[in-house]
Amino acid sequence: MTCREFVDFIMGYLEGELPADVQQPFEHHLSLCPDCDRYLRQYRATMAAGRPAFVDPEAALPSDVPAGLVSAIRASRRH
Ligand SMILES: [Zn+2]
Repeated sequence: MTCREFVDFIMGYLEGELPADVQQPFEHHLSLCPDCDRYLRQYRATMAAGRPAFVDPEAALPSDVPAGLVSAIRASRRH
């Protein structure tokens, strides 16, 4: 799995909706790549800050996840 693929799967990972055949390479990449580990933490923190329900990954997620969230996080990386 590449870093680009990893980023594409983060939302599914945090929602617990990753297919079984993706989950393993995803977590493998996470264990090997400090950049993606940091990105995942940043992503999670951003979600937690904007959406208290996301603090608990087991909690039911609202269906109206803001579409701007991902682009906001990507924008925050460009500095
Ligand atoms: Zn990576």
